[in-house]
Amino acid sequence: MTSNAIRGWRAWRLGVFEPSGGDAPEVFLRSCVHDAYWTPREAVSSRCVEHVRPSLLCGCGIYAVKTRAAALEWAQTTARAMPMPLVIGEVNLWGRVLQFSSGYRAQHAYPYSLEVLDDVLPRELDPKLVVRQLRDAYVVDVTRVRPRLAA
Ligand SMILES: [Zn+2]
Repeated sequence: MTSNAIRGWRAWRLGVFEPSGGDAPEVFLRSCVHDAYWTPREAVSSRCVEHVRPSLLCGCGIYAVKTRAAALEWAQTTARAMPMPLVIGEVNLWGRVLQFSSGYRAQHAYPYSLEVLDDVLPRELDPKLVVRQLRDAYVVDVTRVRPRLAA
């Protein structure tokens, strides 16, 4: 447990908002599991009806893993369960951060850098546009990568 920021890794789902009137689709980060939206330029905080801070007695907190490889594996597992555009990246964690052998559960989090996984982008999304939109919205470094996510 610490009050200093810790850097972990995560996988996100890419939410796609398609404005009417033929404008280009806009993308944003969503949680892979919950229907939670990661608002640009705002810390995401743990939401639990019982705990303000992540509790050992509960499963609450913002989840993160310790390595890029683990984040890719997370993305891979998610993609197998349901095909969806995915992003991995580093995430800053602060407030109460519970540490486990495989990862963290944090009170607060915000992306530090993002990697757009080219292979799982739907055809209608231009990868360059996705990179630019994420960079502009979340104010973080965004790169494109081509990992093999095949099951
Ligand atoms: Zn809880």
